[in-house]
Amino acid sequence: MGSKALQNFLNENLNELKSKGLYNEINVLESANGPIIKIKGKDLINLSSNNYLGLANNPRMVEASIKATNQYGVGAGAVRTINGTLKIHEELEKKLAEFKHTEAAIAFQSGFNCNAGAIQAVMNKKDAILSDELNHASIIDGCRLSGAKTIRYKHNDMEDLRAKAKEARESGLYGKLMVITDGVFSMDGDVVNLPELIKVAEEFDLITYVDDAHGSGVMGEGAGTVKHFGLSDKVDFQIGTLSKAIGVVGGYVAGSKDLIDWLKVRARPFLFSTSLTPAAAGAVIEALNIMTESSELVDKVWENGRYLKKGLKDLGFNIGHSETPITPCIIGEEKLTQQFSSRLLEEGVYAKSIVFPTVPMGTGRVRNMPTAAHTKEMLDEALAIYEKVGKELGVIK
Ligand SMILES: *Cc1c(COP(=O)(O)O)cnc(C)c1O
Repeated sequence: MGSKALQNFLNENLNELKSKGLYNEINVLESANGPIIKIKGKDLINLSSNNYLGLANNPRMVEASIKATNQYGVGAGAVRTINGTLKIHEELEKKLAEFKHTEAAIAFQSGFNCNAGAIQAVMNKKDAILSDELNHASIIDGCRLSGAKTIRYKHNDMEDLRAKAKEARESGLYGKLMVITDGVFSMDGDVVNLPELIKVAEEFDLITYVDDAHGSGVMGEGAGTVKHFGLSDKVDFQIGTLSKAIGVVGGYVAGSKDLIDWLKVRARPFLFSTSLTPAAAGAVIEALNIMTESSELVDKVWENGRYLKKGLKDLGFNIGHSETPITPCIIGEEKLTQQFSSRLLEEGVYAKSIVFPTVPMGTGRVRNMPTAAHTKEMLDEALAIYEKVGKELGVIK
């Protein structure tokens, strides 16, 4: 049955991954993705979600999504440009623009789709894109789709960016130049040096594009990394996701009215893929209400981040140089890192290991994502388990 060539391809590659221990077995959650999750009947302290503000199962948002479903149904029925633009989508985009302090915003079905659509709407094969070497996979794909030349610069190294921007400009080979960066880099929790990046952009007339998937809801009192630096009027494209701190699903681009008008006629996932469900749009609007009413959740995720960092550092772990609540615990060798993560799981902490090729060889880490929903007791218990496993495996004394 089916193609032999395909079967051979699958057998060969699946066997290779499995024999090397690289095949990722997916864990299935039997609960909401909150601070405690249930896997195979066992309750675990969850330090691996992107649910930074604990909004993924917020009761007010659940209510709002039910209300939107009752009013508009379960599906939008068409792509945005045919007749799948519901009043609730318009409301959502207006709120997103207010939240990001921009003239306008456009919502997509995911953050991934933003990068798949927005870059190629503006850049083409005559152009060049300067891209941080640690940018997210969806940015890399978005750059490829545009056909522009991608020029990688060293991670967050503004001197390297300046040199490469100068070279690209002076070569005369390219039309438009763009610089793309993550706002917060999720593997180390470090933040883009945006003030310096903007200086380089102004010097060489670069279009600026900041994907703030991990910064929105966390940095800048929730409004993101660009707002944190007070540079909202200097960045052309601000990308955000609605699936991390916002806790639902979807993505958006915030920028000038002209830019958003253009994306509405040129961004392919907007034109050729059905719009966000009414439930998702309703839940996100309520999330934005919650975030504007009070800074409580943002304050809490930072407080929990500081607490976890201090705890791990005091125990003697290497926690890298994170500037956000994201807390890597660097173990080093790949096998040991995976063993560390498995032992944490057996003891009751869910914290995923991240190893080469996602991070450089020899810098394997267990990455911890504390959220606003964690209590001190949960973090204390996680720290006690870290201490036990760390001593057992000789990572700390
Ligand atoms: C997670 C992430 C995305 C993808 O967002 P989704 O809404 O989950 O598709 C895009 N860019 C960056 C930098 C991310 O971290």
